[in-house]
Amino acid sequence: MNTQVEIVEVGPRDGLQSEPDVLPTETKIEYITRAMDAGIRRLEVASFVHPRRVPQMADAEAVLEGLPERDDVIYIGLILNRRGFDRALAAGVDEVGMAVVASDTFNRRNQGVSSDESVAAWLDIAADARRAGLRYNVTVSAAFGCPFEGEVEPRHVVELAKRVAEAEPVEVALADTIGVASPQQVIDLIGMVAEALPGMPLRCHFHNTRNTGLANAFAAVQVGVRALDASIGGIGGCPFAPAATGNIPTDDLIYMLERSGIATGVDLSQVMATSEWLAGQLGRSVPAMLPRAGRFPEQLAGNAA
Ligand code: ZN
Repeated sequence: MNTQVEIVEVGPRDGLQSEPDVLPTETKIEYITRAMDAGIRRLEVASFVHPRRVPQMADAEAVLEGLPERDDVIYIGLILNRRGFDRALAAGVDEVGMAVVASDTFNRRNQGVSSDESVAAWLDIAADARRAGLRYNVTVSAAFGCPFEGEVEPRHVVELAKRVAEAEPVEVALADTIGVASPQQVIDLIGMVAEALPGMPLRCHFHNTRNTGLANAFAAVQVGVRALDASIGGIGGCPFAPAATGNIPTDDLIYMLERSGIATGVDLSQVMATSEWLAGQLGRSVPAMLPRAGRFPEQLAGNAA
């Protein structure tokens, strides 16, 4: 099993895009800065989609403009098509992340074209990203289940992963976009994808919709996944997926991993403090448990004092 896992903070994109209110650009920049101060070195900071579809991300360029230039941090911009890629490139992201949905119905709803058309667009975009010197990753979304088509055939996910991997991305991610996966399903599907793509780094993206998110994350790490998406406080969802809830909380994920002997390089106390700050900005409590329950064993020491 891995002894080190990279946490990719996706709250500034996946989290905030499903919030009913739009946070000011400066607040987004403070969120990202706090996450970097806590030790997170790779973050999905914005998505370059049409502002009519996702008004929360309308200031993507301004967010990139306001972020400090750091050689030790990777800013990822999520894209769904060529137009998004052009914007992300112009805005100065370090890495683009493209999503291709495993179900055709969901792909059409999310990106307005078929899965095949998205794969073709991805292969073109990846070639351009390489020429531009950008890092590029790709996510197979709804890999564990689709809100419109139901069960997704694992062999189909493997085939799709093989096709998008032909562009030689920095990694291939599997996303449980609507939070339906179970740990055994994660073990089985990751096993199949890893066998089909030997040597390809894999990342996973889980939502805690049915409270299986952390169990899925642990299962993924056990079968060799080296990077996990999470959002501080567990904020977020997907506005196009019915009843979706937040990403797995960065706070709770770090606690689970570190108590299991898996390093993340991220300071849990600073993440918890950011969670509380974020709750204040959003005007409501966040789903993460750690900020409420406290750390262990520091929590006991605190009570005894
Ligand atoms: Zn998501």
